[in-house]
Amino acid sequence: MSGNITLTMIKPDAVANNYIGPILSQINNAGFRIIAMKMTHLSPAKAGQFYAVHKERPFYNDLVKFMSSGHIVAAILEKDNAVEDFRKLIGATNPAEAAEGTIRKQFAESLERNAVHGSDSDDNANIEADFFFSQLERFSG
Ligand code: ADP
Ligand code: MG
Repeated sequence: MSGNITLTMIKPDAVANNYIGPILSQINNAGFRIIAMKMTHLSPAKAGQFYAVHKERPFYNDLVKFMSSGHIVAAILEKDNAVEDFRKLIGATNPAEAAEGTIRKQFAESLERNAVHGSDSDDNANIEADFFFSQLERFSG
């Protein structure tokens, strides 16, 4: 069964470019409810932990450096079929390949500096939500 939450980060490039508002607006307009949110600055160790699945990849060190280079906004988003629908909304990892109208097409700078994160499975959505948020920090009304 498809789950109803996904975890997003607005990455340091998009925060620095003043795109927090426009990105959150598109997220809400697409029917996602924000049930937890914070602005924070990941240490290299925490960014490395978040992306540990990629640690053998050639881009890992640069990715960790980028993700710890500035503030991010992390949020838990709720919607039916959240993971798949959010991946559609953000578009392909490489903005050059992302469809028109997707968040990465509009706001990303490059393959690395691609504006937003979206979980890739229900299991990872739960793991990533727990990485950033306690139960007390989540809306449940
Ligand atoms: P996605 O974020 O679309 O799930 P991945 O999980 O494959 O993509 O990669 C995690 C992040 O690592 C990407 O969002 C991007 O910031 C960066 N990245 C992925 N592939 C590359 C690459 N070939 N070169 C540089 N950075 C990359
Ligand atoms: Mg991924």
